[in-house]
Amino acid sequence: MKKILITGGAGFIGSHLCEKLLNDGNNVICLDNFYTGSKDNIKHFMENSRFKLLNQDITKEYFTEVNEIYNLACPASPAAYQANPIKTTKTCVQGTMNMLELAKKNNAKILQASTSEVYGNPQIHPQEETYFGNVNPIGIRSCYDEGKRCAETLMADYHRFYNTDIRIIRIFNTYGPNMDINDGRVVSNFIVQALQNKDITIYGDGSQTRSFCYISDLIDGMVKMMNNDKNFVGPVNLGNPSERTILEFAELIIELTNSKSKIVHKPLPEDDPVKRKPDITLAKEKLNWNPKVDINDGLTKTIEYFDKKLKEIA
Ligand code: NAD
Ligand code: UDP
Repeated sequence: MKKILITGGAGFIGSHLCEKLLNDGNNVICLDNFYTGSKDNIKHFMENSRFKLLNQDITKEYFTEVNEIYNLACPASPAAYQANPIKTTKTCVQGTMNMLELAKKNNAKILQASTSEVYGNPQIHPQEETYFGNVNPIGIRSCYDEGKRCAETLMADYHRFYNTDIRIIRIFNTYGPNMDINDGRVVSNFIVQALQNKDITIYGDGSQTRSFCYISDLIDGMVKMMNNDKNFVGPVNLGNPSERTILEFAELIIELTNSKSKIVHKPLPEDDPVKRKPDITLAKEKLNWNPKVDINDGLTKTIEYFDKKLKEIA
């Protein structure tokens, strides 16, 4: 039985990972400071004797005996990571360094949840792992983008210097149940607006693209990457290559929710990437991973989740 630490385990992705790793029979420690995470996401694990919650900040040093670390702690929504940008950089950099030290002391494996944002506003399309990116170092997204890039650097250097057993995944836009209603990202915003028949807020003209991956596909890829026995350390893109414009996405949400909402346009935030689509050749080849969930099925489940949440708070 493995002892696995998940930082950011009370967040959207982290809570699904806790569930998967508990179901597989592991001991799971969830470390979270609840900045964007929620007790609701993990309350059903609290009775499980193999689950332990640590209400703690990743920027503080911490020691426990572990076999594996999944490092997810970091706000992912632009609104949340820009609300306290200096803390975001600290979480990415100091937090990852703390987790690498913990991995080193334990001789444990560590997986870093990196992001498609390391490619910035990409000038090649689709993005492959060999692309170094196009990132503004001093913009409003930089605390996250550069923080995550530096976290990858730390991972690579611990691997080179101390032979730490690392894995780096670059996650592209992922969606599903357990996202916060007020998260601020496009999926939760549009679905909540549509369910309430409120205006759907498109930033800019809606011609920018994203490629959306359902949570169960991502979790499958994360665990495959951690457990791959080829010593493949990455970085590897994990995302669904099915790309659409934000306008098309808004129209799809209106259709699936049968909503009376109208589309309105708001200013496009600074440095908003114009295009984003993962090249997943490497994940297919090294991990035999391919996302399976169709967007209509994934969104239907996500809409059901938000509908229930809205009724709970009504
Ligand atoms: P989320 O905001 O739902 O979860 C992040 C979790 O980290 C929350 O529970 C939060 O409370 C916790 N946290 C934040 N700062 C912390 C700190 N200093 N100490 C301890 N805990 C802290 O976001 P998510 O979508 O679940 O993202 C999880 C990870 O995956 C993040 O590292 C994010 O950068 C990465 N990622 C997510 C996506 C996506 O589409 N969801 C895309 C790329 C990368
Ligand atoms: N977006 C939007 N309306 C919203 C929220 C986001 O049009 O209410 C746009 C945003 O400008 C971006 C895309 O949707 O172009 C995805 O934004 P999100 O914050 O989900 O994630 P990002 O991929 O930008 O990190």
